[in-house]
This record gives sequence, C-alpha cells and structure tokens, in this order.
Amino acid sequence: MLKIPQSAYASLRQHGEETYPCECCGVLLGQFDDDGGAEARSEAGSKTVSRIARCGNTRQDSPHNRYHIDPRDLIRIQREGRERGEDIVGFYHSHPDHPAECSPTDLAEAHWFGCSYVITSVEKGNATITNSFELAGSDEAGKKFVDEKMIVV
Ligand SMILES: [Zn+2]
Repeated sequence: MLKIPQSAYASLRQHGEETYPCECCGVLLGQFDDDGGAEARSEAGSKTVSRIARCGNTRQDSPHNRYHIDPRDLIRIQREGRERGEDIVGFYHSHPDHPAECSPTDLAEAHWFGCSYVITSVEKGNATITNSFELAGSDEAGKKFVDEKMIVV
C-alpha cells in the first residue's frame, strides 16, 4: 500500500501534463512503514510518501515512451533525502496516450525491490488514471509488478 499526500499526488500528475507528449519521471521520498528491514520490504509493505522529486528525462532516443533518471540526479536526491530522514520509496513516470499499466520495458528497467512504481496516463495532455505497482520478487529473474493500493491522504 502506498500513502501519498494530495499535494504530491497532484504534483506528479501535473508533471506529466507539463512534459506531454514526452514522459515525465521522478522519485518518491518517504518512509517504509514496516521496520523489518530490506527483507521485509520485498513483501507487500506499506509506504508513506512525504515528498516527490522531479527529474529530467534523460532519454533522448525516445522520450515519448521511455524514461530514464540520471544516476547523478538519483544519488543527489537520495543523499538529500537521507539528510531529512527520508528513503526512496518509489518512482513515478507518465504514459502519454497510453494506459497506466507497466510495459515490458518498465519491468526490465525496474530494480528497486519493494519500491512503488507509479504510472499516470496522460491523454491528449490531461492526466487521467494513476496506478501504483510494487516491484515484487528478490532477483532479476523472478521479479514482477503487482498491483498496489494507493491512498491519497
Ligand atoms: Zn512506462
């Protein structure tokens, strides 16, 4: 389960509208609500988002259906989050004129087990459906996305 404040939810959806027809992407910062450590995180645990960090989409080859977060951005966001006591609990991106479902590429490029992957469909420039998926499994061969309940608080 992913709990996200209304302001962060609105902001990540708006980000997708702003970058349309290209994909947007960013990071979800917050807390893992269980305290079972990394192993428990591979099971369905709940997470609370405290803020989002917008990223530039560095995919130049196909920005309308691919996203990529610059590793330097990610390291900076992770460091700044830790200074505030926040972990990276997930990622978000948009699907311009495509459903808010995970693509095979999304799965191939997802490596943060137990984290949330939030996808917003942006139809003709307007954010419509936003879904969350948790990356389940414990290794690359067995990983899969599972539907995750998202609560806007
Ligand atoms: Zn995608």
